[in-house]
Amino acid sequence: MDYHVHTAFCGHAGGMLEDYVRAALEKGLSEIGFCDHFPLLHMRDPSLTMAPEELPRYVEGVLRLREETGDIKILLGIEVDFFPSQMDEVAGLLEAYPFDYLTGAVHFLDGWGFDDPRYLEEYRWKDISLVWERYFQLAMEALKSGLFDVFAHPDLVKKFGFFPPDPPIDLYREFCEVARDSGVVMEVSTAGLRKPVGEIYPSEDFLVMLNRFQVPVTLGSDAHHPSEVGHAFDQALVLLRRAGYREIVAFEGRDRRSIPIPS
Ligand SMILES: [Zn+2]
Ligand SMILES: [Zn+2]
Repeated sequence: MDYHVHTAFCGHAGGMLEDYVRAALEKGLSEIGFCDHFPLLHMRDPSLTMAPEELPRYVEGVLRLREETGDIKILLGIEVDFFPSQMDEVAGLLEAYPFDYLTGAVHFLDGWGFDDPRYLEEYRWKDISLVWERYFQLAMEALKSGLFDVFAHPDLVKKFGFFPPDPPIDLYREFCEVARDSGVVMEVSTAGLRKPVGEIYPSEDFLVMLNRFQVPVTLGSDAHHPSEVGHAFDQALVLLRRAGYREIVAFEGRDRRSIPIPS
């Protein structure tokens, strides 16, 4: 299954809902989970997320497609940016819809869209160790918020290939403890392979540690074009097995079940 695909609703992805379903069928996937960006509440940027008034149309679109399509399971998810001060309002807005899972993500560090190529310059005058610390702080807060079923691309902060001088083992360990206690499922995302860092989120040493802490995982491509659906899942499955994983999590109506990873 691919639990993280976007659509044209977010303004920076190509393809309509049905194009992604067609691509998933062609790839032989058994499930596809739409996970487009939840509207930003503090700013309007049509090139980043749908507007609040588009949310009902997104939900209806996915549910209608589920009605019409028999050969593949279609799930309704959404990728929600974690902003500590907005989460009560966000929770209220999400309540109205029958999501199969809610995916949390950190794309902003105190207002800086650190994974947005438009703001790449900022890295030049940042202390990378502090950037990593702040990212993981917010990520852990997101896990503790109790709002999310899944946490997307857990080490997104590596996207442009800026790593702290020493391997951030202590940050990983602290995060893994919080992840285990929160019960949130970690997303293994092949999107990193298509970015400057050129590797899967999370890194292998991080994924090994997550497994040691018995943190469950799910799988996503973060496709922003139908051709990216299920991208490099063969590599992701090899990595998962190497890290010690034997099963991944599937969702339905926010309930989970485990699916064995094929060997
Ligand atoms: Zn994301
Ligand atoms: Zn995404």
